[in-house]
Amino acid sequence: MGVFILLLAIVVIIAIILANITEKRATKLKAKREADYRANALKAKRDAEIRLVEQKAAEIVEFRKEFPVHSQNPNVQEEWEMSCVEHDDHDSSEQIERQKRALDKFVTPIMINYPRFHNTLFLHPSAMFLSSSHPYKLYDTSLMMCDCPDNKHRDLPCKHMYRLFYEIEHPRSTNLEITDIDSDIQLRFRQLSDNERLFFVEKSLRYHFQPLIPRIIKKDAIVKSLIKNGFFIIIGNVDYAPMLEKMTKDQIILSLAKRNVDGYKPSWSKVKLIDWIVNEQSAFLKKHFKSLVSINIHPSVEAWAKGISYEYDKRWSNVQQ
Ligand SMILES: [Zn+2]
Repeated sequence: MGVFILLLAIVVIIAIILANITEKRATKLKAKREADYRANALKAKRDAEIRLVEQKAAEIVEFRKEFPVHSQNPNVQEEWEMSCVEHDDHDSSEQIERQKRALDKFVTPIMINYPRFHNTLFLHPSAMFLSSSHPYKLYDTSLMMCDCPDNKHRDLPCKHMYRLFYEIEHPRSTNLEITDIDSDIQLRFRQLSDNERLFFVEKSLRYHFQPLIPRIIKKDAIVKSLIKNGFFIIIGNVDYAPMLEKMTKDQIILSLAKRNVDGYKPSWSKVKLIDWIVNEQSAFLKKHFKSLVSINIHPSVEAWAKGISYEYDKRWSNVQQ
């Protein structure tokens, strides 16, 4: 009996030892499998990252065929290099986004000056753009800087600078009316205040559809300056009849009385009264409407005004530029 118990004890001990060994092996195997799994996952992640980098690089190579950031013209390249600290900056996703946006139809150039030589002097390329979000804001752009908020804050090329560079590399604009504007006109335009410049641009915008229709406007400081600087010209006499028609008969009679004009009958119809004033009371009209003037775009900037209007109209056309 004693021997049997001893044998049983030995068998149990051996069984426990064997079970222990098997469990240790299983734990080891599990740890190895987990390590392998982690290593594989890491490799797959790295491969995916490498593939993404390669894919992006390939996309940039493809995009560069359409949108270069290097010029063959050494004078252009020299200026352009000042726009970025590192050449690689052009390839970051934020900058690629700007290059794409540069070709948007809402980025409206109103003037592009291509690089050229005058005698031996290199004339720097430059441009002016209407803001894409605010139609009545103008940005002055060169290859080195732009006065839009994006370039001011980031000190990297903005979409306007990319558009200028693009236009230089692919002179695709068939609208020669906005390119290389006479330097004297440019100088006078740059000396105008922001409000005066915008007023000229705003008045130009309709010229594509309605050329050369004199407009009667209030002769305020802006209009006076634009006339003085040769952007507007006073055309003929103001047609007063439509302005009298806007007034009531009582208002007309009151104005005549104020200036001691007589010779009419209050019983006359408004039409007869207006006819009489227009034909016989020019002194009264000049005094009463002295704040108004009939203007047109000055002939020397008429082509430019039409070009601005044409570029602006592209914003609303469905035709891809
Ligand atoms: Zn800009």
